[in-house]
Amino acid sequence: MKQKPGWVLPDLKEAQKRTANTIDRIDTFTIPEAARMMGRGKTYFISTYGCQANERDSETLAGILDELGFTPNETAEGSDVIIINTCAIRQNAEEKVLGEIGNFKRLYHENKDLIIGVCGCMAQEEGLVETLLTKYPQVRLLFGTHNIQELPSMLYSCMFEGKKVVKIYSKEGEVYENLPVHRFGTFKAWVNIMYGCDKFCTYCIVPYTRGKQRSRKMSEILKEVQQLKDEGYKEITLLGQNVNAYGKDMDNEQDFATLLEEVAKIGIPRVRFTTSHPWDFSEQMIDIIAKYDNIMPFIHLPLQSGDDDVLKLMGRRYTKESYLALYDKIINTIPNVAVSTDIIVGFPNETDEQFEHTLDVVRYCKYDNAFTFIFSARPGTPASRMHDSIDMETKRKRLATLNKTWNDLALEKNKAYIGRTVTVLVDGPSKKDENVYSGYTDTQKLVNFKGENLQAGDFVEVKILDAKTFSLDGVAV
Ligand code: SAM
Ligand code: SF4
Repeated sequence: MKQKPGWVLPDLKEAQKRTANTIDRIDTFTIPEAARMMGRGKTYFISTYGCQANERDSETLAGILDELGFTPNETAEGSDVIIINTCAIRQNAEEKVLGEIGNFKRLYHENKDLIIGVCGCMAQEEGLVETLLTKYPQVRLLFGTHNIQELPSMLYSCMFEGKKVVKIYSKEGEVYENLPVHRFGTFKAWVNIMYGCDKFCTYCIVPYTRGKQRSRKMSEILKEVQQLKDEGYKEITLLGQNVNAYGKDMDNEQDFATLLEEVAKIGIPRVRFTTSHPWDFSEQMIDIIAKYDNIMPFIHLPLQSGDDDVLKLMGRRYTKESYLALYDKIINTIPNVAVSTDIIVGFPNETDEQFEHTLDVVRYCKYDNAFTFIFSARPGTPASRMHDSIDMETKRKRLATLNKTWNDLALEKNKAYIGRTVTVLVDGPSKKDENVYSGYTDTQKLVNFKGENLQAGDFVEVKILDAKTFSLDGVAV
């Protein structure tokens, strides 16, 4: 562990360690007596960047702040505590966060009691913490992904002892149960099934920032899902960096297919899951998805690259051929299934020919949606140390070509919905017109439609009249 006077700083070498030690499961969360009701009459604001894991972590932060007596505020302006939950996946995500922290400086000058805290993946980055400590004096609290449960005592030290608090452990991690949660959604909920990742894809910082793969006990997950059902939730999404590897870190070898089936049996109308790594996707999983009507026919299946040599350098453990075989099995077994993906262009030294192989897969799979990125060198990862002969202009052109290719194909696929009637889970009315609503199909298509007297959380049948690249238009029937 790296130490500064009174502070523990992140250490990449520590964060990289994976041991066979069994992980600690901690299910007692207590608020120190002195910190109870410290937030009475005070407000908080949380700004969240990045993936669903961060969204879910922010719900825990909010749950803890509620228990301390704080009240949520709609804006940063006027808040007593601002927490920025950060993302480190690409450099542009970091730049956005640093921009926001910079903007909050004014609020700090206006109110010297204001506590600005930074947590999440950026706080787990070795170099960045030094930057935050030296260049952003307005940040009074810095804590990592493994320290969320310590928020009461950390805030107490900031608020009542006037200390700057930095707590970032670079460890494999634990599993905490029974932490408070303030769910932001009233009919859709996130459910963590595991934390961390052991895959170490060579471009990716997640295994360093979030620690080793730790699955939650199936009984705990099912208890949470049952509770959400009892509270009337209509949709849940099971979350993990690699959900198909669920249970592989536990002695009793629980697997994701079994978990998914048990979750489906509880009977929440819509069950989703993300993300599926193609390497761990079992046939049994495909059969379970096909068997249960309440498991949504939508699979996010990151490709990253369609070239075998690049995939090998990325450490992805599958080939173009095995990916396409899996894709075919999914399409042929699950009726009406939609598939989305993640793709990185401009991995170090990617040739035009290798990029063409990615386009070949895109043309074959005709993805319903795709998240496409230019490779971003993440400090400490193996890919960041690779010499790269490809210039940024070429990478940008490839990204544009890739986007045009998948957009055109997705539009064609969306057009096939015209004339069909689909079930939509309503998110709510549009801000501009109260008779235009939006919501999602089982296949995760965004639908904007005309309707009347609908509530968020209703299921409604919608006839599709028009199709765009990213959405469908229709009318409630
Ligand atoms: N665990 C998931 C998986 O393996 O597919 C993805 C997790 S990551 C939060 C989401 C996506 O960000 C990845 O699928 C990848 O496409 C992209 N990504 C991760 N590291 C990146 C990097 N260094 N540069 C560009 N894109 C990156
Ligand atoms: Fe990152 Fe790979 Fe783990 Fe996904 S599976 S989080 S891309 S290391």
